[in-house]
Amino acid sequence: MQGGSNKGKEALISSKVLVDAGVSNTENDDRAVDALARVIEKEDFASMDVVGQFNLGFIIARRRKDASPSPSRSISQELQVMDDLFIVDQHASDEKYNFETLQLTTRIQSQKLFRPQPLELTAADELLATENIEVLRQNGFEIEVDDSECSGQGSRLKLVAQPISKSTVFGMKDLEEIIHLMRDRPTGQMVRCSKARAMFAMRACRKSVMIGMPLNSHQMLTVLRHMGTIDQPWNCPHGRPTMRHLLDITTIDSTSIMQSAPIDWSAFQ
Ligand SMILES: [Zn+2]
Repeated sequence: MQGGSNKGKEALISSKVLVDAGVSNTENDDRAVDALARVIEKEDFASMDVVGQFNLGFIIARRRKDASPSPSRSISQELQVMDDLFIVDQHASDEKYNFETLQLTTRIQSQKLFRPQPLELTAADELLATENIEVLRQNGFEIEVDDSECSGQGSRLKLVAQPISKSTVFGMKDLEEIIHLMRDRPTGQMVRCSKARAMFAMRACRKSVMIGMPLNSHQMLTVLRHMGTIDQPWNCPHGRPTMRHLLDITTIDSTSIMQSAPIDWSAFQ
């Protein structure tokens, strides 16, 4: 009996998650993103099929896969097949892929300072900056280490070049933000200051497929496959969900469709 009630509870949770991940949830983006992460695994994007484009803005994708075996299921039970349709925002999802790629790979140009600037850092932050010197360089901040100076005295590290960009002015505050972010990350992991993130978000937006653009099946498939390769495919750089769950095909009763009255297509002409 206990097993039965557990199973009922599981079904209840999953249908609640599907509602949160679905198109009817228009109010709570955070909950949708959270639910989507539970409904889809990143590997799923590698095997999704394109059904078609909707309204020149969305990709309808179909995912078919075996339901993950649950420990409570007896061996004799048939393996359940999941069959779901998803609606994917073509701009938001391409934008997120481009954004994450830019974040990871862009080397921001730097400009040599007229006079190297000593960095007033604590001994711990000096160590952090030294260990992540390549990450700082990718961000346009070039630092020289003077080993003859004692650490924590504010003269061991010198800033010799700072980032430069046509659209954004960077300064010491941005270097402070980057070092602050580094405290919680493993050594060598890319971090970006908020100004750089905003710059990449704008660039990603401009280079992504637009709403209103007709896409062929190859282009749609590329957008889907890219989603499986990025860290956070569920929301766009602005935090909005990139996709929604549309339909669980296994819940459609095929016999009722067969029995329903034939469609009078002449009415649509
Ligand atoms: Zn955009």
